[in-house]
Amino acid sequence: MYSDTDSLVTQSDSSYDSDLAASSDSNDDCSDPEFDPNGEVVDNDDEYDPPPFSYDVDDPIIDVNVVFPDVDQCKSAVTHLTILHDHAFEIVKKDKSRFRAKCKRADQGCKWTFFASTSPKYIGCKVKTSGPKHTCGSFNNCGETMASNKWVAKRAVDLLRDDPEMGPKDLHSMLQKKYSIDIPYYRVYRGKYKAMDTIYGKWDDNYDLLPTYQAELLRVVSGSIVELDTEKDDNDDLCFSRFFVALKPCIDGFLQGCRPYIAMDATHLT
Ligand SMILES: [Zn+2]
Repeated sequence: MYSDTDSLVTQSDSSYDSDLAASSDSNDDCSDPEFDPNGEVVDNDDEYDPPPFSYDVDDPIIDVNVVFPDVDQCKSAVTHLTILHDHAFEIVKKDKSRFRAKCKRADQGCKWTFFASTSPKYIGCKVKTSGPKHTCGSFNNCGETMASNKWVAKRAVDLLRDDPEMGPKDLHSMLQKKYSIDIPYYRVYRGKYKAMDTIYGKWDDNYDLLPTYQAELLRVVSGSIVELDTEKDDNDDLCFSRFFVALKPCIDGFLQGCRPYIAMDATHLT
């Protein structure tokens, strides 16, 4: 589920805005010689349409006029629906402002096409062409063609939240069973780690947060001992070495709960 905030963040990106300014619905069609502009539905009355960004990620609708937060999420939705219906598509064009695809079996006569684009007139990526229905029949295993590691990662996030210990092998068989497709194992392997990054953040980013975490611990629990040691690697880059934490209440409890004592292990008293 996506919020309006996500889309606003995208819109605030200046390079994104300038890309939008450089294109419009009318020159979309001219820039792609493979596509017939007369085949598209052009909506001129959508200037103030509210952006209905909530969509079912597990069973998306990709009909004309549906709006997605951005081009990437639009493509993800089309990919997922394609897998659910055991079809396959080929990307004709994809960039920050548009996504165009055709059936993988277009050369055998299937007329299914898809086109969605952003516009300065509205927020998000709106579907302009979707269909007609595939006439190519089942693909009889679209996993190899369509199930990218990005697709795997999106499906794996919830499964790994429920069971963070799940290995790629279990994830592989679970996804294959659930979607009745054969997915190459290496894509599940990579997809799993992509999903872990989504859930827990990237390792590098987490290490970068350690100084902030140290400062926050010392601020909130004053009197604690929090030490962060780093070292330089072969490239002279600073790397994490070790992190020590003794919170003040634990220090106090230890001192109050333990009697002073002298211990002597077996040693030579010579
Ligand atoms: Zn088709």
